[in-house]
Amino acid sequence: MPREKKLSGIPASPGITIGKATIVKSTHTKMEDFAGRVENPEIEVKRFEDAVEGVKNRITTIKESMDSSSPAFSVFDFYLELLEDNSIINICKDKIKEGKTKAEAGIHATITDIIKNYSQSDDRFFLERMQDLKDLTRLLIAELQNEDLDIIGGDEPQIIVAKNLAPSQTALFTRDKVLGFVTDAGGKTSHTAIMAKSLGIPAVVGTRTATLFIKDGDTVIIDGKEGLVIVNPSPPVLRKYKSKKKRYDKITKDLIEQSKLPAVTKDGYKVTLSCNIELAREVKQVKECGGEGIGLYRTEFLFLNRTDVPSEDEQFEIYKMVVEEMNPHPTVIRTIDLGGDKFMFYADTPKELNPFLGWRAIRFCLERTDIFKAQLRAILRASAFGDAKVMFPLVSDIHELRRAKMIVKEVKDELKKRRIKFNREIEVGIMVEVPSTAVLAHLFAKEVDFFSIGTNDLIQYTLAVDRVNERISYLYDPYHPAVLNLIHRVIDSAHKNRIWVGVCGEMAGDPISTLLLVGMGVDELSASPTNIPAVKYAIRSVEFSELREIALKALKMATAMEIKNYLLNETPLKNLKLISSD
Ligand code: PEP
Ligand code: MG
Repeated sequence: MPREKKLSGIPASPGITIGKATIVKSTHTKMEDFAGRVENPEIEVKRFEDAVEGVKNRITTIKESMDSSSPAFSVFDFYLELLEDNSIINICKDKIKEGKTKAEAGIHATITDIIKNYSQSDDRFFLERMQDLKDLTRLLIAELQNEDLDIIGGDEPQIIVAKNLAPSQTALFTRDKVLGFVTDAGGKTSHTAIMAKSLGIPAVVGTRTATLFIKDGDTVIIDGKEGLVIVNPSPPVLRKYKSKKKRYDKITKDLIEQSKLPAVTKDGYKVTLSCNIELAREVKQVKECGGEGIGLYRTEFLFLNRTDVPSEDEQFEIYKMVVEEMNPHPTVIRTIDLGGDKFMFYADTPKELNPFLGWRAIRFCLERTDIFKAQLRAILRASAFGDAKVMFPLVSDIHELRRAKMIVKEVKDELKKRRIKFNREIEVGIMVEVPSTAVLAHLFAKEVDFFSIGTNDLIQYTLAVDRVNERISYLYDPYHPAVLNLIHRVIDSAHKNRIWVGVCGEMAGDPISTLLLVGMGVDELSASPTNIPAVKYAIRSVEFSELREIALKALKMATAMEIKNYLLNETPLKNLKLISSD
């Protein structure tokens, strides 16, 4: 009987799965095999051109079988863009011709050079793209070598174990063939992990040692939420996980069944559940998950990964489509939140020591009024087609709000003069994500139509904990009493001034923290579409009167630990542990 082993890694995609392991042998071809000079580089250039066409065809075929809202879809679009990019293609060809190398060596040398340049950048976007470039090299070399890309053999569903998996490999996984996967490498935000989540396949990445300890045919349990992998479990452990899996699957089924019902507590308290989106095409997911509108449209994503600023007309068409699709539900369009960890190529953003405290969001817009006004015109024009609202990010001072509102007024006057239709009563709100604004919420509330609390930033600024620094992530705690008391204050100030208040940070996507927010009286929650069913399930399983009491008690506690212990052990919220992501 083989010994039971436990490995821990990064939870990449939730769910529990049990099955037999298949180890994916690394097909990484040794580049030494392609060293040396060739007699006729023209033949190699032709092989390269054929490989580019071949990979384009393969990618197009894979894309055709995919849902266009899947994150993998945009990864493959990115690959196609690279394969259409003549500057890269020509460098490859020159390398082959000048170095008289084999096509494989030319591709490898070109991409290695690009990656070298990228790795000197500290832009996270570029760093993430490095993995994609490596994947593309692999695809091209596999094409030249006539290798099969499909790594799933056999008819039985299996657990895939690999050193690393490229997004293009994960995209070929289907739930009937792959029960789950475990990798040695990889991070939570890698495209492979993102894809596993959207495919609904449990996965643990970054275990470092999975391929060392797991052999073909071993029985493996994956607990994707805990980031735990158990190899050759003992009979009692196997029994325990079989029953945990049963409970998890039942709850998931219930969640899906309930997702179209309203978000109402057992005693009739209604909360609006809306969605956060980054790209217009996610509207489809908003509708499917039962979202009642868009509570945060992060429009800056339209400005990223391109070399020009989107024109007013381009923006208008996109916002109009989203607003029309969501009608009669609202769409809260946040004006661009660039800076921090999101940069444009063309905005000439200076390198800053503390970008999250720097030239970001509304601060950027109030200086680049050309970009700001074009966006406001586009939003206002779209407001003629449904319930669009405008929201300013990172407001930290009342002057900023007043200046931004002045600019809205100027744009409105201009549109009126040009007889262009828009909603003259459009609601204007702010994100409350800086402590100064939370403290002065009672004053801000008199000058806006709504608040949306951005807990992601509010936590980092309140606790002085960089939200993207893994080293200190243990200090980043949504349950910190300072954070909860600030949130409570903002909700109270909003209600005293008769405006609505929502929460659109990640706290609004977890069933347990959301119930605390509901208990504090929040009117709206906006979360990623994938989180909506669990949050709705949680809201429908409790009474508002008990949430109110729980929140008031939690607000008096001195530490995050006390609060979490209380919620998870002494209140009915403990029943929601299985679907909580905390
Ligand atoms: C937030 O800060 O909570 C928020 C929703 O905005 P973002 O995550 O885009 O900064
Ligand atoms: Mg924010």
